Amino acid sequence: MFRMKAYTYIEKGKFALIDKPKPELQEATDAIVRVTLGSICSSDLHIKHGSVPRAVPGITVGHEMVGVVEAVGADVKGVKVGDRVTVNVETFCGECFYCRHGYVNNCTSPHGGWALGCRIDGGQTEYVRVPLASHGLNRIPDSVTDEQALFVGDVLATGFWAARISEITPDDTVLIVGAGPTGICTLICAMLKRPKRIIVCEPSEERRAFVKEHYPDVLLTTPDACEEFVKQHSDHGGADRVLEVAGAKDTFQLAWRCARPNAIVTVVALYDAPQVLPLPDMYGKNLTFKTGGVDGCDCEEVLRLIEQGKIDTTPLITHRFPLYRIEEAYRIFENKEDGVIKIAVYN
Ligand SMILES: [Zn+2]
Ligand SMILES: [Zn+2]
Repeated sequence: MFRMKAYTYIEKGKFALIDKPKPELQEATDAIVRVTLGSICSSDLHIKHGSVPRAVPGITVGHEMVGVVEAVGADVKGVKVGDRVTVNVETFCGECFYCRHGYVNNCTSPHGGWALGCRIDGGQTEYVRVPLASHGLNRIPDSVTDEQALFVGDVLATGFWAARISEITPDDTVLIVGAGPTGICTLICAMLKRPKRIIVCEPSEERRAFVKEHYPDVLLTTPDACEEFVKQHSDHGGADRVLEVAGAKDTFQLAWRCARPNAIVTVVALYDAPQVLPLPDMYGKNLTFKTGGVDGCDCEEVLRLIEQGKIDTTPLITHRFPLYRIEEAYRIFENKEDGVIKIAVYN
């Protein structure tokens, strides 16, 4: 039997690269994808630290990947053997009430939701079985490289969704809290809406420098200076749209404080701890909150925008490692060493 290397969740605090058999089709709606490129996401670290209770020990981690379709079940539509594809972080049926309304994150199929690299084997390996593959795979246009498409199924899907639900208009001052990988993807997608100005708040000097280098029109501030800075650089005493992508200790409070009355505050971040919603303090501000959990149903559109040169996330790939050196890649990513934003792990 062909055996492959798979980076595996052994127990809380421990991942290891171990041998596993190559996956096989189990259902007619499955596909097998040969992974060409994968990446590491902060959600992988959440699993490692034991803060994702539904993560199943023994599963291969990794839910950001692109590859080539190796086999498809009889009922798979839209992709065929040999196609280069992006793999969606979410598994969804496309048929239930939630899927039909585009809320694929809440798909009620037993396979639905974040399964890959959490409840079933994911993509930090050589081959992955993708359930409900007609919906979970998107064909990569010929002119788009694997690196250009690497983030379509997860972190870029999140940024695209966040920008979409924030209802950004050309008159808006948009504040993005956090310039990590998801923050930068959110920035790239918010820029497509051509708001009047975008302010990015980020404590790390290195990451502010990254934003300044690649997106020179963006205004930059730090958490300490943010509230005052936004007041001075907006037309109505605060940001019209706030996208909270940091998930740090005080960033939720910062987000709503920087919003003007009647603003939309979109919480993209995943917090480690409950957050306080101080309703007496915000009384009369009449804010609209939208909360996180990406609906990754726009991958086709995102791929088209990449093909047209309107979205480019390749600058985020600051490091590249072969799968056999994935331990090293994790160390760098986890400790934010060496200016890392994202790491491409290749086979
Ligand atoms: Zn992720
Ligand atoms: Zn569904």
